[in-house]
Amino acid sequence: MENSGLYIHIPFCKSKCLYCDFNSYAKSESWIEPYFSALCEEIKIQAKKYPKRYDTIYFGGGTPSAVDPDYICETLSVLKECFEIESDAEITIECNPKTIGFEGLCALSEAGINRLSIGLQSTSDDCLKTLGRIHSFEDFGDCFQNARRAGFQNISLDLMYGLPSMTLADWEDTLDEAVGFGAEHISCYSLKVEEGTPFWDMDLNLPDDDAVADMYDLAVEKLGNAGYSRYEISNFAKNGCESRHNKKYWQCVDFLGLGAGAFSCVEGARFSNALGISEYIEKIKKDQSAEINCETLDNFDMMSEFVFLGLRLREGISERKFFERFVLDIDDVFGEPLKKYEKTGHLVRKNGNIRFSDKGFFVSNMILSDFV
Ligand code: SF4
Repeated sequence: MENSGLYIHIPFCKSKCLYCDFNSYAKSESWIEPYFSALCEEIKIQAKKYPKRYDTIYFGGGTPSAVDPDYICETLSVLKECFEIESDAEITIECNPKTIGFEGLCALSEAGINRLSIGLQSTSDDCLKTLGRIHSFEDFGDCFQNARRAGFQNISLDLMYGLPSMTLADWEDTLDEAVGFGAEHISCYSLKVEEGTPFWDMDLNLPDDDAVADMYDLAVEKLGNAGYSRYEISNFAKNGCESRHNKKYWQCVDFLGLGAGAFSCVEGARFSNALGISEYIEKIKKDQSAEINCETLDNFDMMSEFVFLGLRLREGISERKFFERFVLDIDDVFGEPLKKYEKTGHLVRKNGNIRFSDKGFFVSNMILSDFV
């Protein structure tokens, strides 16, 4: 049985970015104290309900680095008391430049957090302003150096492309400058303009689909040349530095989410917590549980998810693991699309593994829809 992952949601931000549709809230400082006490309560309750072994913890948000590090350290120590956590667990925290200084980073590192995921997004101050980010490129540089000095040897950077008015040359600059920092891991996401965000109502000068595809190709080329291998469609890592936690999502390994709006996937069940901060706190107090909805996937949905998510990974899916999990041969379930895309050269089958070829990765979204 593989070890599970823990996701902890910290929904506080200094201000709301213009493209953001995450479950995060600005100007909610007065909720921080009651939120963390509800979170610690939830940890104690859920640890009894899900007594598994865990080897990754991920503090995401929101902006976990925007709260006093003492809250994070205390939460981590409650997690370690209540859950069985492997001694070599990967423990990540998302961090926004300009929300935490050297001392705060030292406190997190000393508490046992060993991976930092910094939201750089762009190295252009104009782009950062357009996105409504609170930091400048210089702030990022300070944050990165402070993180190294505080002992973080595993740092990931988030970058965004397809931004308003962004040219291929702008994106190239961002990639070059980001690579220059020598982070262990880089994620590249294209901007999605979501309904309900300020961007949705703005007249944005967005690059067209072809230009966005060129930006993705450039990332694959530049990052590849710099020693980052693309182990997932949007994620690139130096040797041995893939995100162990995020791989659980793609490999359909169980993870338990704690905190407002956190989503869990445990033994075929999918459930999520109350979304709003006050709603979450109230629910913990009243019902001793924050869960608001739960669905159990049927066998086909689980098989489909296994293929759909697993193919996002460079290594693809293992035929043996599919059989062990579902007691069915993968060809008996997905024989038709598998055969079709092997024939066209989009999928490659080798040594019991099925994965995308380079050509397949390029049109992965279109192909993946054939497996659902
Ligand atoms: S920092 Fe992240 S979570 Fe917070 S508003 Fe910006 S994009 Fe959203």
